[in-house]
Amino acid sequence: GQKVVLITGCSSGIGLRIAVTLASDEKKRYHVIATMRDLKKKDKLLEAAGDVYGKTLMLLPLDVCSDESVRQCINSVKDRHIDILINNAGVGLLGPVESISIEEMKRVFDTNFFGVVRMIKEVMPDMKKRRSGHIVVMSSVMGLQGVVFNDVYTASKFAMEGFCESMAVQLLKFNIRLSMIEPGPVHTEFETKMMEEVAKMEYPGVDADTIRYFKDVYLPSSIDIFEAMGQTPEDIAKCTKKVIESDSPRFRNLTNSLYTPIVALKYADETGGLSVNTFYNLLFNFGPLMHITMNILKCLTCSCLRRRTISPD
Ligand code: NAD
Repeated sequence: GQKVVLITGCSSGIGLRIAVTLASDEKKRYHVIATMRDLKKKDKLLEAAGDVYGKTLMLLPLDVCSDESVRQCINSVKDRHIDILINNAGVGLLGPVESISIEEMKRVFDTNFFGVVRMIKEVMPDMKKRRSGHIVVMSSVMGLQGVVFNDVYTASKFAMEGFCESMAVQLLKFNIRLSMIEPGPVHTEFETKMMEEVAKMEYPGVDADTIRYFKDVYLPSSIDIFEAMGQTPEDIAKCTKKVIESDSPRFRNLTNSLYTPIVALKYADETGGLSVNTFYNLLFNFGPLMHITMNILKCLTCSCLRRRTISPD
């Protein structure tokens, strides 16, 4: 029969595309419950879904930051039966930490970390009883490697990776799979929303040098990286479909082979010096030549590193 898939954060970006891709499966293997915080934002999803809405695709409200909303949503699913849970909802946070309040940081953790924990706590007991299920988590390469000025976002994804790495062991005993998808840069509203927030920022309490490093060095390099390496939400949706359709789904799934050399630095030098120094050089010495650096990285991507990556095609 059809597998019930519940996805969080489907009003835009990667979540929207995963919902549409799975609901449009030719063999109609998925009954997709696309959830979003605010159903008023459903139009973009419905437009992209076309005539599968009402057939293989349905909508439910769900705010991953609210215990009550999570419980209500899962209770309204028939028999609370979810075969595949896709934790996609997430928020970014960019900028010098001096200018970010602890409250804002907590909001990021509440969505990116506790949001996933809430969902898993609610869905896992039923999966355990049935001795089956697949939990997919949208992590990021920033769940594996720290990135300057993304300190708190990175920390939230690291926290989630640690949680999942620990959970995967007991879940396996119950025949429940856990997979993390680790995309590099993806062109979505995520990027736009962050740039808008950066433009509004006033940087209280931040010294002039740090502001300059952030605005004049980091931001242009980051835009270069998005241009050189950015994937589409379709790419990530295809990778995700591959992961859930695999007979033995892998725990870690990078999606972007261009980014693998950056992640590999960490494993090439266990003292951490290589990755810190490489990032330093990328940013402060090669910054203006970022596109050339990206091409060099492309050449460095040898086949053994590609093995870590799942390709959309
Ligand atoms: P996006 O902003 O388009 O999508 C994120 C979605 O999560 C939005 O629809 C938003 O409304 C929703 N959301 C936020 N808070 C929520 C809450 N409390 N409850 C329910 N939904 C909520 O961005 P995206 O790029 O599609 O991001 C999806 C996931 O992919 C995130 O977890 C993000 O960290 C991850 N990711 C993104 C990139 C990238 O470069 N865009 C790279 C790696 C990983």
